[in-house]
Amino acid sequence: MPETQGNSESYNADELRRKYREERDKRLRSDGEAQYIDAEGEFEEFDRDPYLKEVLTRDPIVEDLEVAVIGGGLGGLLTAVSLRKKGIKSFRILEQAGDFGGTWYWNRYPGIRCDIEAYVYMPLLEEVGTIPSERYASGGEIFEHCRAIGRHFDLYDRALFQTGVESIRWNDDLARWIIRTNQGDEIRAHHVTVSQGPLAKVKLPGVPGIKDFKGKMFHSARWDYDYTGGNMDGGMTGLSDKRVAVIGTGATAVQIIPKLAESAAKVLVFQRTPSALAARNNSKTDVDWFRNQPKGWQQERVTNFETNITPGTHPESDLVADGWTDFFLRVRGHMGAAVKSGESFNPMDVIQKADFEKMENLRSRIGEIIEDEELAARMTPWYNYLCKRPLFSDDFLESLNNPNVEVIDTDGAGVTKIDETSVHANGTAFEVDCIIFATGFDVAAAAHKVGGYELIGRDGVSMDEKWKDGMRTVHGTQMHGFPNFHVVGAISQGTTSFNYTHALQMQASHAVDIIGKCVDDGIRSIEVTSEAEDRWLEKMKTPHKIDLVAYYRACTPGFLNHEGDVDGQPTFLGSTYGGGALAYNELIKEWRGGDQMLADCDVIYEAETVPG
Ligand code: NDP
Repeated sequence: MPETQGNSESYNADELRRKYREERDKRLRSDGEAQYIDAEGEFEEFDRDPYLKEVLTRDPIVEDLEVAVIGGGLGGLLTAVSLRKKGIKSFRILEQAGDFGGTWYWNRYPGIRCDIEAYVYMPLLEEVGTIPSERYASGGEIFEHCRAIGRHFDLYDRALFQTGVESIRWNDDLARWIIRTNQGDEIRAHHVTVSQGPLAKVKLPGVPGIKDFKGKMFHSARWDYDYTGGNMDGGMTGLSDKRVAVIGTGATAVQIIPKLAESAAKVLVFQRTPSALAARNNSKTDVDWFRNQPKGWQQERVTNFETNITPGTHPESDLVADGWTDFFLRVRGHMGAAVKSGESFNPMDVIQKADFEKMENLRSRIGEIIEDEELAARMTPWYNYLCKRPLFSDDFLESLNNPNVEVIDTDGAGVTKIDETSVHANGTAFEVDCIIFATGFDVAAAAHKVGGYELIGRDGVSMDEKWKDGMRTVHGTQMHGFPNFHVVGAISQGTTSFNYTHALQMQASHAVDIIGKCVDDGIRSIEVTSEAEDRWLEKMKTPHKIDLVAYYRACTPGFLNHEGDVDGQPTFLGSTYGGGALAYNELIKEWRGGDQMLADCDVIYEAETVPG
């Protein structure tokens, strides 16, 4: 159920505005996103796959295909399932990891769980027959579901695991993409879909001395259970005599820290910015309820959730009714009251009112849970609700009461240095045995940067050259100069959702419908024109229901606002289609289903289809 409404009389809006500005300004830094280090070159060890039981050696494959699906996470899986449903048999899934799952393959840290309700987040529940055991599923269960999708739709025999794509190059004579991999493969595919995922490129804090540390260290998305012992449920016996530093207090860290508190001798939490946390209120799935849902219920619930979390909509019901929909419910309540008052009003002021209430509500919980008043004050977030990814937890704040947990709050400064034995912060060296970097991902990187491959389109023009003066796409998913190429999971110039699998499904269906049309109509290549890109860029000016640029300019730095560098570049979320995910889906469906697609594309017929 939604949380109780905050009391609008209980805060001073001017004082909050001043406090938010002060806390943001403290954290703004001139190096912005450049403050982070990629896990490459001398840091590539942080990107190593710790889960592989054996390294695959196989003979290179040389083959012709209809479709190469790059990425075996949920984006690639949804694309492959759509291909199966369309009866397109000639495809391969290329995945550098050892299994399907994407983010759920890589992120196996203790305590991992998804904040989006499993009944809307986990796709294809009805078809695969999975019943999530809890309302908010554990990471292990979602990973298992990804594997179940692979089995159910016979995708394992179509997958090439431990296969890193090195280059994707268009060959105009063959009208095929030539894909070369680190296994020596040469795959020639009419169409390519790419789904590299926003949470794939791990990043480290750009502080000096990381390489000097002599103890154990790893990124949260490459958990080393050989060192810690235990598993995703905890029980890390290897840490019973260890002092463990966690850098970060974001979505990942707040799940890890309670588990570390149960296992480690000492946990040192290095905090730069406190997170806004609501109660999770998880519950076991009512299996009778689940089994008695009518056919098609999941899609209805997914759409209902999306409608509820889209500003400017008027949903008739709130089927999920959780912490996510609560915020938008508050905004709607205030908007309704403002309209009813008959006075003229600025919608941003009304949203701000709902936001203050929500944050006051979350702030008031902290002192009720954390026993030490001074610590409770240091754990209190001072920014608007959507400035950072909202978090949900029933054990993070609680775990800070444990005597073996120490929070080193850096008041916005962060850790400053690492040496052979210690993490430095606030002018003090803290000696530790192990450092866990819960410092997140390069969320806004383009697919080819995340995948680490060279992408060369028609006439030898690379992706980087094409975008040197700025990104140009149609729908975020198609590009002039890149025929038969489809991005699944395009956020910039495309769309996203807090329920990311919903956005993935929209774009997977889009790619596969276009591919299906090519197969059915004998289309050799289809490529959006430069003029169509111009038209989409124009359409991208459709304003968001919330002025996201103004909203994120006022925010504390983070990956959602390019670390505070909002002006001069669109914010990460501001660069999505302004009409919202549902309107985007309608728009792309109409585009591919009618005459507009052919009008917006250069189309060459006489394809030679590859038998399945
Ligand atoms: P985030 O980017 O959200 O958090 C990184 C953390 O590292 C922040 O607390 C950041 O502080 C901190 N940090 C960075 N540099 C320093 C430094 N020099 N010193 C101290 N602290 C530092 O990454 P996460 O992995 O937590 O989450 C990424 C995304 O993954 C989420 O937004 C969400 O989309 C997804 N996710 C979802 C989960 C779920 O559904 N439950 C669980 C986990 C992840 P600061 O805030 O000051 O920048």
